[in-house]
Amino acid sequence: MRVLRGHHLLCVHGFVGMGYSPSFVEKMSEIVEDIRSSKEDFPIRVVKAFDDACLACPHKGDSKCKENDESDAFVKSLDQKVMSHLGIQHGEVVMKNELMQLTAARVKPNDLDRLCAGCSWLEYGVCKKGIAELNKKVS
Ligand code: SF4
Repeated sequence: MRVLRGHHLLCVHGFVGMGYSPSFVEKMSEIVEDIRSSKEDFPIRVVKAFDDACLACPHKGDSKCKENDESDAFVKSLDQKVMSHLGIQHGEVVMKNELMQLTAARVKPNDLDRLCAGCSWLEYGVCKKGIAELNKKVS
């Protein structure tokens, strides 16, 4: 089973290899490959906490994100916004294909302006593009 934090449920669609360190990028690439595979289906535990990607992040502290003083509260607020938008509770287990359908049905590219407000990657446009592609692929 994969563990993914709420906001990473969006990040996986637009990920193009940018990240916080080579090990983080390698882990995200592995997760993204599984998620985007049309052949794979597997359970995902959705959390508002560290996930599989965070374990490879250089900013991971003992109990919270330590990139800066606000980062832990900020990423948790992103998690909560995405989970509320999708109607998923912390700790809930959902099959990957079901999550893809739910995300495609409920998230449109411009929703990221609100759901991801404050994220430094948003301005690159790749995340909105990824959601647009998901909307086309799963409809
Ligand atoms: S803008 Fe940030 S939080 Fe939103 S999908 Fe992109 S990387 Fe993830």
